[in-house]
Amino acid sequence: MAEFETPALRPYPEIPPIEIGVMAHSKPFYAKEDHQQKIGFPGELIDNWQQAAVDKMGELVDNSRALRVFLDSCVKCGACTDKCHYYIGTSDPKNMPVARQDLFRSVYRRYYTLAGKYFPSLVGARDMDQSVLDEWYSYFHQCSQCRRCSVYCPYGIDTAEISMAAREIMDSIGVGQKYCNEIIGKAQTIGNNLGLPEPALADTLEGLEEDIEDETGVTVRMPLDEKGADILLVTPSADFFAEPHVDGLIGYAKVFHQAGLSWTLSSHASEAANFGMFIGSYDNMQKLALRVREAALELGVKRIVFGECGHAWRVAYNFLNTLAGPFDFLDPNYPLPQHVCEVTYDLIQRNALRLDPSANDDMVLTFHDSCNV
Ligand code: SF4
Ligand code: SF4
Repeated sequence: MAEFETPALRPYPEIPPIEIGVMAHSKPFYAKEDHQQKIGFPGELIDNWQQAAVDKMGELVDNSRALRVFLDSCVKCGACTDKCHYYIGTSDPKNMPVARQDLFRSVYRRYYTLAGKYFPSLVGARDMDQSVLDEWYSYFHQCSQCRRCSVYCPYGIDTAEISMAAREIMDSIGVGQKYCNEIIGKAQTIGNNLGLPEPALADTLEGLEEDIEDETGVTVRMPLDEKGADILLVTPSADFFAEPHVDGLIGYAKVFHQAGLSWTLSSHASEAANFGMFIGSYDNMQKLALRVREAALELGVKRIVFGECGHAWRVAYNFLNTLAGPFDFLDPNYPLPQHVCEVTYDLIQRNALRLDPSANDDMVLTFHDSCNV
């Protein structure tokens, strides 16, 4: 067993003094007209956008009891204020989770509460106007939707859900961000965020097979679109080439190989990271989730396994069954998508893997998910 030096407990981190507005300028590139339209949103800011945004907010609050509770129940206890990495890293008080929520809550109060309608200044209610939209665009894109803050909130208020709602409203009036919206379009048409078509994917996997053989002398396959395989592996497309993600995919292939499991990747569903969740769009989330179902049916697999990715896994375990289920065609022993760590843990318990702990003695490892709590 490797010996680890346990890190010493340090005093509480020092919370930086606030620097008001220091991150107001920070915002992503706006999505272009065709990025927007491809995924069902207006190409540019629509006429009468203020009213449309308020109406959309009402629709979201009506459809989600959780969102309404989050907006109505904050007691400003402050427990979340120093829990967001965006605040700790920038000192901008609008990056405190409670302040981020209030960007949304202030508009909700104005239009959807009695006090906000009649005494707006007494309850911090604000009209939906250009300055609010500018603040939303900056600060709701400075939230990675990790949900760390919600763990510390005594009411379980989930800022990530509020960020998702704000992004959905902005998209619905024609103000989207390029990074997510462009790649959602690619994933919906090509199958992955990178826009890697099937021949490029096949070539990449062949190269990885050669790398493994050079390293280990063992022929380990990375099958693509193989009908009749037992397992469909859906993994983030970053795993196909980026460092260190590719080491994850290589590891999955080695695990499946050693355990003698039959598996395949799919070119139709070659993306686990569902960016529909980032923009709070359940329609787009569903379109991407359905590709996983279609691939599983087309290939006739018995199990679906997700590779590592915090947000991908959140969609897989929280939403996939609702969006694309029921998965009643899978092996009843594995009726829902599994995480690759669950599969590996199970194999270790059953002694189906031979492991050499000394091989990683030079590393200090932690097991956590930085993207999603
Ligand atoms: S969800 Fe994460 S990134 Fe967003 S406000 Fe909370 S801690 Fe910050
Ligand atoms: S911890 Fe919860 S209740 Fe307290 S200020 Fe933050 S969001 Fe509001």
